[in-house]
Amino acid sequence: MGEKMHAEKYEFKAEVKKLLDILVHSLYTSREIFLRELISNASDALDKLRFESNRGSAIVDKDMPLEITIDFDEKKNVLTVSDTGIGMTRDELITNVGTIAKSGTEEFLKLIAETKSETSNIIGKFGIGFYSVFMVAKEVVITTRSFRSEALPVEWHSDGLGDYEISELNEKTLRGTKIAVHLKDDAKEFTEKWRLENIIKKHSNFVSFPIYLGKEKINTVNAIWREPKSSVTKEQYNEFYKFLSYDNDEPADVIHKSVDAPIQFNALLFIPKKSSEAFWFDRENYGLDLYVRRVLIQHKNKDLVPEYLSFVKGVVDSEDLPLNISRETLQENVIFTKIASSVTSTVFGYLADKAKSDENGYKEFWKEHGKIFKLGYGDFTNHDKFVELIRFNSSVCKDKDELISMAEYSARMKDGQKEIYFITGPNRDSIDVDPHMEIFRNKGLEVLCLFDPVDEFVVSSLRKYKDFEFKSVESIDSKKIKEMKDVEQPKDKIEELTKDDAKHFSSLLSKMKNILADRVEDVVESTRLVDSASCLVSKEEGVTASMHKILKMTNKEMGLQKKIFEVNPNHKLVRNLIRVFRVDSENQFIKDTTEQLYESALLQEGNLDDPHKLVKRINQMLEQSSDWFVKLNNYN
Ligand code: ADP
Repeated sequence: MGEKMHAEKYEFKAEVKKLLDILVHSLYTSREIFLRELISNASDALDKLRFESNRGSAIVDKDMPLEITIDFDEKKNVLTVSDTGIGMTRDELITNVGTIAKSGTEEFLKLIAETKSETSNIIGKFGIGFYSVFMVAKEVVITTRSFRSEALPVEWHSDGLGDYEISELNEKTLRGTKIAVHLKDDAKEFTEKWRLENIIKKHSNFVSFPIYLGKEKINTVNAIWREPKSSVTKEQYNEFYKFLSYDNDEPADVIHKSVDAPIQFNALLFIPKKSSEAFWFDRENYGLDLYVRRVLIQHKNKDLVPEYLSFVKGVVDSEDLPLNISRETLQENVIFTKIASSVTSTVFGYLADKAKSDENGYKEFWKEHGKIFKLGYGDFTNHDKFVELIRFNSSVCKDKDELISMAEYSARMKDGQKEIYFITGPNRDSIDVDPHMEIFRNKGLEVLCLFDPVDEFVVSSLRKYKDFEFKSVESIDSKKIKEMKDVEQPKDKIEELTKDDAKHFSSLLSKMKNILADRVEDVVESTRLVDSASCLVSKEEGVTASMHKILKMTNKEMGLQKKIFEVNPNHKLVRNLIRVFRVDSENQFIKDTTEQLYESALLQEGNLDDPHKLVKRINQMLEQSSDWFVKLNNYN
């Protein structure tokens, strides 16, 4: 090695130290992934070089082949990974290797600190990059020379404990980066040829540059997405998926598509079995790899599919884009946007087929990825396809896990039914006892049960399935529904109100309106209730209770939306109120009961801010009724 100049010591940034501390002491069983990370960096560096070359930049050692070489020295216990890629200048070394730029790293560190025993899965999936080398290394030496002619080659070395040293090399080093890994005593296995060969085949087989182990080429360099479907085996698809996604599992779906006109492209897409939502800190880490004529233009391009399809992994390769296209202008390129919308259609087409041919498989898909896919409600261009693919629980389902499609719902609609009804609630139990459901049960009308707060945005934004509007049970025209045929006869036929009582009932409603004053829009006779005494409903154009709760979270100042208070004249409690009212219209019991019913309705929809008054009133009423109870039963 030649003379070193300007040797300088630097300290790692705090977050790097934290990460290193975890890695150095980690008992992670799959330490081998460090090699995947180094090879992946080398491959990125080669991609970047090819990109610069396509742009016509001046390049040092222009004629060197683009390749990765792995050498090992069993005696010295050293492994080296070299590439002829873009290299790094001194400044680049400091910014790239001295800090962690990857978004979500902080969350990653936190998570890893919390779940010590299960780090393996997380480390493997997150891909912590270069630093993973310190799981196996006691010292690392990087020798690198940038493709820029003015930059001097530099050497970086560190034991991964707290600082690193950089010095300039004045000798003639060739372009690219060489990483010498001085292995820990317990990591000797990484100088064994067969072991290295296995690791490379397992994790890096599809790297698009040749990987040499010594003199022997190890990987399969062909781009399988450009091969005819019939010549690719399931194993090859699985292997490629694992390489691409860092997932240990096989994919749930493989979508391999080749389009020739009007624009040529090949797409090889995968849908994972499991959602990576749990890795929420890694949410930004989505997108498809974009190739032009087998040359990687961009890793994880986020414009090839909309965000609501971010669970899709894969590659897209086109003949029709220029090789020197810049990433910054991709979005404005008409061919690119056409490819992107065609990729989206491909995914929709695939899902529609799956929903038909493999109903259960599709439901599994919805359960895993629905949370993200659902957000497609905002994509109006795909409205009609999307609305066929949504799934919800409904009142006809036997349990909360069952799902139905809108096509199934519409096939079961009653004569004259023009709307698709939905109700929101935290679970089936609470929906089953919700007073709003009573009339629907009575008429045998199906109601979608929405459990996820976002579901209401989904149906409200979609507005319609075919010609049927989505309608909240809170804002229906209950008189129209009342006219429909009952399927269930009320258990005890209630006597109609006498003319005289009907008059008193109507005065009682006015009285109640006085009591509730401007807290409600109006107090009216209910045509929808069967078993409950009262409930709150929205005006037809109003916001539903759960939507109101969501809006209130974002705007604390938002006041309670005024609603209509409906009272059921056939309920025993209301009948008794009429009797009291007839004799003493100013009786305190009427006031207390009205307040109680109103606040209970608020409580039920989750909009009662302060329960103190309600609890106090209930306790007083219980106390009174306990007196009556004791007297009635002669217990005193
Ligand atoms: P990531 O690859 O996720 O960005 P790493 O920690 O693995 O994170 O690498 C940090 C950066 O160091 C890379 O983004 C790249 O700029 C640079 N780098 C790493 N390895 C190489 C290499 N072999 N050649 C050129 N640059 C490299």
